Amino acid sequence: MEMQKKLYLETFGCQMNVSDSEKIVGLMQGIGYVETKDSTQADLILLNTCSIRAKAEQKVYGHLGKFKSLKESRPGLIIGVGGCVAQQEGEKLLKRAPFVNLVFGTHNLHQLQDMVRGAEAGRRSSATDFIDDEARFDLFLPQGREGGVSRFVTVMQGCDNFCAYCIVPHVRGREISRSAAKIVDEVRQLTASGVTEVTLLGQNVNSYAAKNPGEPDFADLLRLVAELDGVKRLRFTTSHPKDMSQRLIDCFAEIPKLAPHIHLPAQSGSDRVLKAMNRGYTAEQYLAKVTALKKACPQIQFTGDMIVGFPGETEEDFLATLDLIQEVQYADLFSFIYSARPGTAAAMLPDLTDPAEKQARLERLQVLQKKVTLERNQSLVGTVQQVLVEGLSSSGECLFGRTGGNRATLLAGDLALSGQLVEVKVVEGLQTLLKAELL
Ligand code: SAM
Ligand code: SF4
Repeated sequence: MEMQKKLYLETFGCQMNVSDSEKIVGLMQGIGYVETKDSTQADLILLNTCSIRAKAEQKVYGHLGKFKSLKESRPGLIIGVGGCVAQQEGEKLLKRAPFVNLVFGTHNLHQLQDMVRGAEAGRRSSATDFIDDEARFDLFLPQGREGGVSRFVTVMQGCDNFCAYCIVPHVRGREISRSAAKIVDEVRQLTASGVTEVTLLGQNVNSYAAKNPGEPDFADLLRLVAELDGVKRLRFTTSHPKDMSQRLIDCFAEIPKLAPHIHLPAQSGSDRVLKAMNRGYTAEQYLAKVTALKKACPQIQFTGDMIVGFPGETEEDFLATLDLIQEVQYADLFSFIYSARPGTAAAMLPDLTDPAEKQARLERLQVLQKKVTLERNQSLVGTVQQVLVEGLSSSGECLFGRTGGNRATLLAGDLALSGQLVEVKVVEGLQTLLKAELL
């Protein structure tokens, strides 16, 4: 009997990469590879990479070093690099790392099967050309890794916003939206396989179909997906505050299946910095959206992203960011030190702030957010929440799920509840999770 070939796939970075990786697994299954979690057993190693910050990029080169020695002991091993670093580096990567067999960009998943077959026959290749039509989505189906309770469904790709610090438009290309009919089809297929929660995914979902006349806008797309019986809970990410329309805000009041959570990255609380970042809103305009969302859905939970140490950020600018955090009361926040990325507008700006000062600002921000998070989690004690049970907790001792507000929750109960929405009462609010009892 022929031995099955084994794929080891490592994913770095955002949900977009996680979603692409699912499709890579499906594509590789199509040419006879099964996934393994053990890289030493693999015939094919693929890295799906991230270049959002310099650190993420360095991590990829660190990993490649590790696989280089593996290849020395197993010369037939095929190594491929895809995703944002591959898009940025292209052929340079093949030169820099002679043990790498193939490099595939963010628009080239549809070529991957041929590239891997070529590598099996001894050919090295690189494909990083952009394609700007809907084929970018369709060629990726079907997804690998079946099952699970909660899944992402890509509704748009790329970004046209060109925030001054961000490499995404450069490595993911222009914004394109997938047709609503195809999105609804994919959600139907997922729910038929037992998925109950769907997260509609894109770099800026709020501008979904802005360039597709005749297609529903994002608010109407949410309604279409929510109408499907198999969908018990609906989420979306990420939203750009400047494109957050009142129609979309109203969805939180009008669509019961829409979870009361929004990831709404502000990036800074200083108008001067927001302008330099090319974000297209002031702190006041951002807060007005937050207020409108709280009005439409009083129990809504906010999460977001913040960057500290953007070129020219002063102590006063930074204090405005802390004020914004206090005002919004985020349930959680991802925070980063600014990292200059090649080809972006901000990379040209003089960056004179001492790195130690940037680190100190990050720590001050994180201390504040930790306090806000704990207070918010504690304020939920005694409330009734709907939790979607995802399965066993990591310790295996109880069930794990998420509230509508996306708070991680532990509760005692039968594993048969997996995939179900259950009502719970919160009994404890800790730093990173809630503990709850079934009602
Ligand atoms: N499209 C989303 C948005 O607009 O919020 C997410 C983009 S990115 C994958 C996730 C986060 O990384 C951004 O929200 C930003 O806070 C951070 N980020 C992007 N570029 C960065 C850079 N050059 N340095 C530090 N953080 C960065
Ligand atoms: Fe990057 Fe801005 Fe686009 Fe988000 S909206 S992906 S931060 S350019």
